[in-house]
Amino acid sequence: MCNRINNEVENEDRITHKVKLNSLSCLLQDLDQITDDYLKARTLANYALELLFAGNINLAHDTAIKAINLAHNLEDQDLNLKIINILGNVHNQLGRFALALDYYHQGLRLTEHKDQKINYRSTLINNIATVYNSMGMKDKAIYYYKEAFELARKEFNIKSQYLVAYNIIDQSLDQKQLEEVSWYLEMMAECLKSQKNLEGLYHIVRSKYLRIQEHYTEAEKELNRAEALFEAEQDAAGLNDVSYERVKQLSRTGRLAEAFELCQKVVENSEKIEDHEILREALKTCCHLTEELKLYDIGFENYRKLVHYDEKMMRNLYEASIYQLTEKTEIELNEKIRANNEKLFENMRFIHEVSKDISKEQDYEALIKLIIQKLKSFVACDAIVIGLHDKENALITRRTMYHAGEITLTYDINVSNKSSLAAWTIRNGKEIYTGLNTQLKLDDFEALDVNFPGITVPYETVFYVPLINDNAVIGVFSLQKYEQNGFDHYELEMIRVFSSYISIAITNALKSEQMKSLNKTLEQISRRDGLSGLLNRNALNEDVKKILNTIRTEQSEIATILCDIDFFKEYNDKYGHLEGDVVIKLISSIIFRESSTATPYIYRFGGDEFLVILPNANYENVKGLAHQILKGVNELNIPHKEAGIDKRVTISIGVAIFEHYNDDTNEDLLLKNADIALYGSKRVGRNQVQIIKF
Ligand code: GH3
Ligand code: MG
Repeated sequence: MCNRINNEVENEDRITHKVKLNSLSCLLQDLDQITDDYLKARTLANYALELLFAGNINLAHDTAIKAINLAHNLEDQDLNLKIINILGNVHNQLGRFALALDYYHQGLRLTEHKDQKINYRSTLINNIATVYNSMGMKDKAIYYYKEAFELARKEFNIKSQYLVAYNIIDQSLDQKQLEEVSWYLEMMAECLKSQKNLEGLYHIVRSKYLRIQEHYTEAEKELNRAEALFEAEQDAAGLNDVSYERVKQLSRTGRLAEAFELCQKVVENSEKIEDHEILREALKTCCHLTEELKLYDIGFENYRKLVHYDEKMMRNLYEASIYQLTEKTEIELNEKIRANNEKLFENMRFIHEVSKDISKEQDYEALIKLIIQKLKSFVACDAIVIGLHDKENALITRRTMYHAGEITLTYDINVSNKSSLAAWTIRNGKEIYTGLNTQLKLDDFEALDVNFPGITVPYETVFYVPLINDNAVIGVFSLQKYEQNGFDHYELEMIRVFSSYISIAITNALKSEQMKSLNKTLEQISRRDGLSGLLNRNALNEDVKKILNTIRTEQSEIATILCDIDFFKEYNDKYGHLEGDVVIKLISSIIFRESSTATPYIYRFGGDEFLVILPNANYENVKGLAHQILKGVNELNIPHKEAGIDKRVTISIGVAIFEHYNDDTNEDLLLKNADIALYGSKRVGRNQVQIIKF
C-alpha cells in the first residue's frame, strides 16, 4: 500500500495535491510501521514536497530534514537529489538565499557522479537562477535560466523545459522583449502536448503577454482559465498568482479602487501562505495605488509593511536580526496626531506627503540631501546637521551639514564629548531646545571651548532631536537659527514628528546599503564550496575563460594539478559519511596550504577531486608543488585500515603542463590531460604523481 500511494503521489496528475497530502499524512501517522528505510525516506520526501505546495513551509522543512537523514545512508542518488532540492526550495522561499544556494550546489555535486543520470541538473540550475532573481540580480538569473533551458532540452526533461521557459518569459516580459516571449510561449505550448499538469502557469504568462499588448479581454480569459485549473488542483500559490495578476489588470484598466481592494487581499493571503515573492510585489503595488488614490495615511502603513518585510528578508539573510522596527513610533505618532489641534493635523498631512518622497529614497547620501531639502522647505533655519550613531565606536559619524546654501560632510564627534550638544542628545536619548543659546543649561555639559578649541557657534536657537528606532538611538539631527526664539510651537511639533519618519527612512537606506554589500558577499558565497571552503565548479566555469585569455595574451605557460582521494568510497563505507567529510576538509586544507601562495585558482572539482590551476608556472615548480601536496596528505596520517595504501588515506595526482601556449590549449584539453595523468597514477598503484608535459 505504501508503495502504491507513493507511486500515485509521484506520477498521478489527476489526483489533487490536497488528496495526496492527506494520503501521505495518514501513511506517516504510523511512521514506525514502515520498516524499510528507503520507503520511509521516499514517503517523507513526497510529504515534504506536498507540504511545500500547500504552503506549510516549516513542516515541509522539518519533514525534509528527517528524509535526508534517512536517505543519506542510502545509495539512491535520485532520492537524495530530490530531498536536497526540496530543502533548497524551502530556504529559498524563506528568503535564506545563502543556504538555498548551498543546497542546490550540493545537489549539483551529486549529479556529477559518473553513474548518475543527469535529469536533475536543469532543475537545480533553474532554482539557482531563481535565487538570484529573488536577490534582484536579474542578469545573473537570466544567464542561469537560459543555461537551465538548454540542459533541460538535452535531458529531454519536458517538465523542466516547461518550468524554465515560464521563468524566462517572466524575465523577458519585465524587459519587454516580446519576440523572445512569444518563442518561449510556443515552447511551453509544445511541452503541454505531452505533459498536462501545471497548465495554469502557461495561461498566467500568456495573460501577462496579452496584457502588455493591451489585449485586456483576452488576457482576462487566460486568467480565468488559469484560475479554473488551479482551483481544480487546489493550488494555493497558483490562485494567489492569479489574484495578483487581476490586480495588475485592474490597475492597468484604470479601476484603481477595485485593484487596491484586491491587492490588500493578496497581501493578506501571501502572508498566510508565505508567498514572499508576491507579497513584496503586492505591497509595492499597494503603496503605488494608495498614492494614486491619494490615501496617504494607508499608503504609509503599506510602506511600513514593506519596510518590515524587507527587514524580515534581511533577518533571514543574516539569520539574525539586525534592525528591527517596532510599532512604537507609529503609536506615538497617532497619539500626537489625535491630541493636537487641526492646524497641526494639516501639517501632519503635509509631512505624510513629504515622507512619502523620503521613503522612496534608498541611497543614504541622496536621502540625507532630500531630508535637508524638505526640512528647509517647511521650517526656515540657518543650519541643519544630521549624523549617525556608531555605537560600536562610540562616534557620531557621517555627519552631514547644511550651512550657507551648501551641504558638506563634516568630521566625526566622540559620543563622550562633553561640549557637543549632538553627543549629549545621543547619550541621553532626549531632545534639546533652546530659544536662547546663552541661557542653555544642561547637566553633564561643558563650555564649547573646553572640548572644541577655536570653534564658535553663532546660533541662538538650537533644536537637537535624537533619531530613535527600535528603542535605540540611531542618530541625531539638529536645526539651528541665528535669531533668538526661532521656532514656534507648531514647527517644533512638526519637526518632532518628522523625526520619526526620518528614523525609518534612514534605517531603511542603511539596510539597503547593507543589502548591497550582502549581495556581494552572497555572490562570493555562490563561488565557494560549503564543505571545503575552496572555490566550486561554478567558480571554475567563470574563471577558466578569464585565465585562458590572460595566458593567451601573455603567451605564457599553464599547468593543471588534479588530485583524487584514493579508495574514498571504501573510506565512507567503513567510517561513515561524516568522517568522510572531515577527510575532505583536511585534504582541502593541505592543498590550499601548499598552493595558495602560487595561485588563487584552487577548486573542489567533484566529490573527492580537487583541481589547482597554475598560470605562469614552470615545470620544476609545478612538479615540486604536486609532490608537496602528496607529502602533506601522507603526513596527515589518517588511518584507512583495510583498503588504504599503507593503511592510510592517500591521494593520487595527475598533472598537465603546457609549457608553450598554442591555439589548441583550451579548457577541455587542460582538464582532459590532467585526468589522463591522474588515471595513470591510479592505475600504477595510487599515492603518486604522474605528469604529462607538452
Ligand atoms: P579511487 O581510488 O579509484 O578514486 O576510488 P574511490 O573510491 O575514491 O572512487 P570514486 O571516485 O568512485 O568514489 C568517490 C567517492 O566519494 C564516492 C562518494 O561516496 C564520495 N563522496 C563524494 N562527495 C562526497 C562528500 O561530499 N562527502 C563524502 N563523505 N563523500 C563524498
Ligand atoms: Mg577517488
